[in-house]
Amino acid sequence: MTLEKRLTHEFVGNCKHLELTGDKIADYTIMRVADIPDADENDPDPCDPLLHFLYLKVYNAKDWVEEDDIANGIYDEFYAADCHCSHDCCGCRGYWIEQIEKCKLLNYTHRNEDYQIWMVLIGSSRNY
Ligand SMILES: [Zn+2]
Repeated sequence: MTLEKRLTHEFVGNCKHLELTGDKIADYTIMRVADIPDADENDPDPCDPLLHFLYLKVYNAKDWVEEDDIANGIYDEFYAADCHCSHDCCGCRGYWIEQIEKCKLLNYTHRNEDYQIWMVLIGSSRNY
């Protein structure tokens, strides 16, 4: 999977694939995921809110790439708030970014392989 740098910012949400994407800036793999319910079990929410904790291994970053480019690339990759359904209450899950942070203590070179670890916190809920 790859992260890209956008050349334009004309589109939002699920139309952002219409954007002109630039060069590939890095590759990534998802190392660990934890999905945690974000509602009170005594007062369940029909929208089924969840918090998703992801750890990404980011590698093959281009020489000119800055940390902000990586963070923006992660945002574009995982933000998906709107669906294309023409009716309400479709039940589709929307995703938005709560936090993106580079794990500084885990940034090291291992077996001649440069990579970074990024923590991504994503919120989601169903459209009801
Ligand atoms: Zn939908």
